[in-house]
Amino acid sequence: MATGGEEQDIRHEADDETPITPESSKTRTSGIEWDQYFMGVALISAQRSKDPKTQVGACIVNPKNRIVGVGYNGMPDIDIKHNDDKFPWDKQTHYTKNKHLYVCHAEMNAIVNKMGADIQGCTLYTTKYPCNECSKLIIQSGIKKVVFLENKEPDRDIYAASRILLQTANIVIKEHTPKGDLSGLYEESNTNTTKISPGKNVHSCFRRSMLFQV
Ligand SMILES: [Zn+2]
Repeated sequence: MATGGEEQDIRHEADDETPITPESSKTRTSGIEWDQYFMGVALISAQRSKDPKTQVGACIVNPKNRIVGVGYNGMPDIDIKHNDDKFPWDKQTHYTKNKHLYVCHAEMNAIVNKMGADIQGCTLYTTKYPCNECSKLIIQSGIKKVVFLENKEPDRDIYAASRILLQTANIVIKEHTPKGDLSGLYEESNTNTTKISPGKNVHSCFRRSMLFQV
C-alpha cells in the first residue's frame, strides 16, 4: 500500500498548485539582489543584540556568494544564558561601568564566528561603519570589501582612523543603497519617517517592516 499512499500524496500536492502555464514556468526575475539579501541578513542579526542603545549586525560572504560568518554586538561569550548580564551596557566613563571596554562588536563576532572557512577575499556587510579596532581585524583576516549601511559619525576619531586603515589596505568600501523589493525593509511604517538615512533607527525600521510584512 506504500505505492498507493505515495500516489495519494502526489495528487494532493498537485491539487494545491497553480496550473503550470507557459508564463508561470518562466524564471522569476523579481528576486532580490545579493547586496540587499546580505545586508538583510546583517540587519536581522542585529536584532539579536541586547545592547539597549545600539544594535549592529554583520555578515561575511565569500566570492561564491556563500555566507561564512554572521555576528552582532554582544558581551564576551562566558555563560551562554547570561552573557549579556555580566557586563555593563551603559556609557559611564569609569571603566567598570563603560560598555565600550567590554562589548564585542558585530564585525569582530562575525570574524571569530566564521564557520571554519578561510575568509581571505571575502566581503563583510555591516549595518554600521566599522570602528578602527574592527578594521584592524578586517585587514588581518584578509577581507577585501566592506559594505556598510550607515556612518553616523564619520569625523569621530575611531571612524576617521578606520577609514585611513581600510583605505591604506586597499579595501573596497561601499555604502549600501537600500532598493528593490526590499525597500520596505528600511522604511518606518508610521508617519514619522520615510527612508533610511544617517541618524535613522535602522533597526526599528527593519523590525517593523521586515519581520511582519516581507
Ligand atoms: Zn568595531
